[in-house]
Amino acid sequence: MLRLLKSPDLDEKFDLPREIRRSAKRLERLDETLGLDLSERSPERALVVCSERTSRKWAPRWLKQLGFDVDLATTGARARFFIEAKAPTLVIVEAAMRDTDGGRVYSALLKSLDDEGPSVVVVGAGRGDVVEATAQGAVDVSRRPIDWRLVSRRAAVIAASRRAGEAVDRARKIVGRALDELRSTRELLERKADVDSLTGLPNRRVFTSVLQRAFSAPRPAGSEIAVLYLDIDNFGSINECAGRDCGDEILRAMSRRLTRCFESAELMSVRTTGLVSASLARIGGDEFALMISNVSSTEHLKPLFERFTSELSQPYEVCGSKYYVSTSFGGAMYPSHGQTAEEVLHHAELAMLEAKEMGGGVQCYYDPSLNEKANQRVSLGRDLRQALERDELALHYQPLIDRVSGKVTAVEALLRWRHPERGLLLPDDFLSVAESEALMVPIGRWVLREACRQLREWMDAGVEPVRMLVNVAHRQLTHGDLPREVEESLSASGLDPRLLELELSERGFLGHGLNVLAALRKLSRLGVSLAIDDFGTGESAIVYLKQLPIDALKIDRSYVSGGGDGEGNATIGSAMVAMAHGLGLKVVAEGVETPERKGVVEAGGCDELQGFLFSSAVAGDQVPRLLNDLNTGTHSVVGREAK
Ligand code: C2E
Ligand code: CA
Ligand code: CA
Repeated sequence: MLRLLKSPDLDEKFDLPREIRRSAKRLERLDETLGLDLSERSPERALVVCSERTSRKWAPRWLKQLGFDVDLATTGARARFFIEAKAPTLVIVEAAMRDTDGGRVYSALLKSLDDEGPSVVVVGAGRGDVVEATAQGAVDVSRRPIDWRLVSRRAAVIAASRRAGEAVDRARKIVGRALDELRSTRELLERKADVDSLTGLPNRRVFTSVLQRAFSAPRPAGSEIAVLYLDIDNFGSINECAGRDCGDEILRAMSRRLTRCFESAELMSVRTTGLVSASLARIGGDEFALMISNVSSTEHLKPLFERFTSELSQPYEVCGSKYYVSTSFGGAMYPSHGQTAEEVLHHAELAMLEAKEMGGGVQCYYDPSLNEKANQRVSLGRDLRQALERDELALHYQPLIDRVSGKVTAVEALLRWRHPERGLLLPDDFLSVAESEALMVPIGRWVLREACRQLREWMDAGVEPVRMLVNVAHRQLTHGDLPREVEESLSASGLDPRLLELELSERGFLGHGLNVLAALRKLSRLGVSLAIDDFGTGESAIVYLKQLPIDALKIDRSYVSGGGDGEGNATIGSAMVAMAHGLGLKVVAEGVETPERKGVVEAGGCDELQGFLFSSAVAGDQVPRLLNDLNTGTHSVVGREAK
């Protein structure tokens, strides 16, 4: 039987940040009500029920002077009408009125009043009135003769104390409600401690304790517990381009798919003997973790991985667009790869990072050498920060050959790092570190300036102008000000913009973002060319390419260099060429290593060729000679760059 740990009693719509915002709003509203009651005073309304002429004359005068709005009623019926229609807060009744209308007016008034009604004051009372009025709830009774000046003062004091009492009552209610709000917010927060609010899955803390429990429970002999760490490739780009809301939608959809996979029967195929228990959690921004117990070897996880990979790689239709997402899996086993929950989870994470380093979309298992690698990554990041200042970065250049003329038409600038201890490092050795250390933008800026400067230097030395191809990281488009930097590099070097071509890798390239599109349009307006690099590795729809202001496609070398499914890929390659030509784009074939592949891509109609067959990338000072040799057919060096 499979047991899947699910979030405790929470529905899918649970959204903690939203709940907290709502709660804060409700509290704010309570606060407003409270503020209003204490600060804003509407004038008090008093009703005087009297028949004596002097009262009719003096009562309104004195009461108005103390800020009351006053109504006069000379009969019981009028008095009741005013109470209904005007809702006075204070009713002052002459005791003499009790016998008018054939009834006991003021006692009837007093009886009909409830707590919320006006305060009643009886004036001009005789002996019997005092006892009766107070017994029935009058707040104040005064004897004859009536001094309206005094009565109005007493009325003002009564009104003020009534206001204060009401405010205190209301404040008490508001505080009570505020406490209720706080209580329910605290409950939500307590639940939040266990549950990821976006997906409703258990969070890292819960997952770790589930692992701890599973590790300390008895296990069948020979069985292990697998911990898998899953991370979405290029999730940052999705968030940047499509917006956080779409990113959140993808995460929710992904957690639903993972849950489905878990619950599906296929997971049972990893079962060896007895009970398989499994747990799924979201442990970070775009990171999920899985625990599967009772696994006899990593081999048994293969079908599960396949199931996950195929399920997760289906397009995500969110926010009106289709997104393709690849994921990297790392795995570690208990007890082989660690003794505590934290250790095994950390090792699974290292394996995931290794999977990412291999290009993403794959699975890796922990082995002890990954610890050393992780340390190296940290120190490499530190060194790379200083590399720019210490002038350790360099560009090497690889030529592109025109299919028809056989001459060099362009060179591609490829980044190198002359590391003081490790020697010459290639981009694959350090670009992921540059990316994670947020160094891509400053490095890219340097590459652009240096490539333009170098081309100007060659041209000044008499080399025939060739196009300079510069690789641009996606981050430069989303975080930097690439058009301005391009303008600056061009003007500093005095180069014709048509000599500069920027290459954007299709890998992880999501041009959907409006800012990306705007930057591409600006660049195109500057007169520089734009090319999609590694074409065929991403998911660019052809229709979509049409909307981009691009000039060229560089077909990924996996389609060019042959290898595994050489035949199949060559076919795809020529279909791509036809499609690109149909869109009016130039086509470059990269990774041409053998005369045979050269023949294939030439027959396919590629416009330019690049690859070790012609030359690897060489240092800037060797380029003039290389170009000359290639153009005169005297170049003979073939192969990879020496390290
Ligand atoms: P890319 O843009 O696809 O560059 C071509 C890569 O293929 C280069 O590797 C090149 O040395 C290699 N290559 C060239 N011909 C052949 C061939 O015939 N066979 C094989 N197997 N490989 C060939 P490199 O220089 O190691 O660069 C790797 C990647 O690093 C580049 O792939 C590019 O994506 C990235 N990169 C390089 N320089 C920069 C840069 O300045 N900025 C950015 N953002 N990325 C860069
Ligand atoms: Ca390139
Ligand atoms: Ca490429």
